[in-house]
Amino acid sequence: MDSRVHSKDVKHAVYQKLQERGVGIEEIARIVMEMQIAYNPLLTLAACVESVHAVLNKRELQHAILIGIELDSLAERGLLSEPIQSIVSSDEGLFGCDETLALGSVFGYGSIAVTTFGYLDKRKSGIIRKLDTKAGSHVHTFLDDLVAGIAAAASGRLAHQQRDREEGTPASAPGADSASME
Ligand code: MG
Repeated sequence: MDSRVHSKDVKHAVYQKLQERGVGIEEIARIVMEMQIAYNPLLTLAACVESVHAVLNKRELQHAILIGIELDSLAERGLLSEPIQSIVSSDEGLFGCDETLALGSVFGYGSIAVTTFGYLDKRKSGIIRKLDTKAGSHVHTFLDDLVAGIAAAASGRLAHQQRDREEGTPASAPGADSASME
């Protein structure tokens, strides 16, 4: 039995779920801009948007996003079993699985992505703070970390691409893929 889900369906679900949960691509890109502008004063928001789209193409991130949002949604509707229902819906500070899931998904973008994630987890810029201070009955226990993960991965990718550009390595050059984390 071939029950494999096509990659384009997974990608479509990621964009749909992010939109449903109130997360805009440009809002994530603004965080990327804030993280990277100090290292590249010529950075544009359009380049940050492009980088967010690029990391959303990666299965590791797609799967983390889908599973995290699913758990948030189930908790929001009271559909998890105890004690995890209470832990996720109350965004228990020592839970940690939300950060671990998001952090694990950015490893492919190197140490800049990892350290940026840690920074964003503490600082909670832009929409991350909005999600963290959840309004009403919304549960964003996983989503705030996932957004930090997407922004961190997109930041790491830009940093490596910038170095490639400075060194005159075209993205299509042999070996460029592993360096630029395309
Ligand atoms: Mg969280």
